[in-house]
Amino acid sequence: MQSLVVVTPVFNEAETLPELIDRLTQTLDGVEDLAWSVLFVDDGSRDATAQMITEHGSKDGRFSVLRLSRNFGHQAALTAGLDHAQGDAVVLMDADLQDPPEVLPEMIAAWRDGHQVILAARRSRQDSGLRGLGFKLFHRFQGVLTDFQIPPNTGIFGLLDRRVVEALRGLTERNRFLPGLRHWVGFDRFTVYYDRQARAGGEPKQSLVRLIKYAVDGILSFSYKPLRIMTYTGCVVSLLGFSIGGYFIAKRLLGFETAEVGFTTLVTLIVTLGGMQLLAVGILGEYLARIYDEVKNRPLYVLRGDG
Ligand code: UDP
Ligand code: MG
Repeated sequence: MQSLVVVTPVFNEAETLPELIDRLTQTLDGVEDLAWSVLFVDDGSRDATAQMITEHGSKDGRFSVLRLSRNFGHQAALTAGLDHAQGDAVVLMDADLQDPPEVLPEMIAAWRDGHQVILAARRSRQDSGLRGLGFKLFHRFQGVLTDFQIPPNTGIFGLLDRRVVEALRGLTERNRFLPGLRHWVGFDRFTVYYDRQARAGGEPKQSLVRLIKYAVDGILSFSYKPLRIMTYTGCVVSLLGFSIGGYFIAKRLLGFETAEVGFTTLVTLIVTLGGMQLLAVGILGEYLARIYDEVKNRPLYVLRGDG
């Protein structure tokens, strides 16, 4: 019989767990000939999350929890799950029911048809405000800034064949953007569509700052293009600068009067050029920091050892 492991990172999700466990059990029990299990990765929760899972696990052995020693973040927790999930296929999904378990049978059917990566793409999404805008902007510009367009409107939600999981485990980079890595390893893909729900309970557990870093990883990890854009902009601005400078020097040497006004122009130029330089140094720094992370070569997560 084929086996499937659902990997779900949880960080203070006590509110959503009961419904999640219910809906997963109902949905997966409805799939024929499947030995399924759910591996929760507890990313340093400070509420009853881990205890609730252990308790449920003692009644239904298909549910288990892998506990990290502290909060390492969504991507690290998913990576821990991928490292420890056995099974012919692995599903990655969030715990907040924004990824509805009811899509799983369709994914499993596609996998059984021979596809190796099943992507779940959002037909619609419920996030509003700054988050919603951020998601839209990211999916709009990610492809433009990288020349490596990940399928838009997909996140980590999806099913991976064992071979894909092994390929992903070979990618050990620190600043991880799993949808990109999943795209990078290739394999035969299939897309199922779903409507992204609102969070079933509680507040989003990923801070906006973390989401922004995640988006930057989604660009910088797959492209040097931001650096090139800086180089090209630098070239154009320098050329312009030399021409204007040459013009004024020539004018002066030939004895023409140079204007004494021009304060506004000067201030504007100084501020603009200063800003552009800082931006360029900042982008350089983002790459540098990522290199630093790689060189330190710290593990992506640490296990508590009692999960
Ligand atoms: N999560 C995690 N570690 C964190 C933050 C979040 O494991 O530091 C989990 C969280 O419990 C949820 C999933 O990652 O299952 C996605 O988080 P959330 O729904 O808060 O983020 P968003 O929907 O904004 O991407
Ligand atoms: Mg969510």
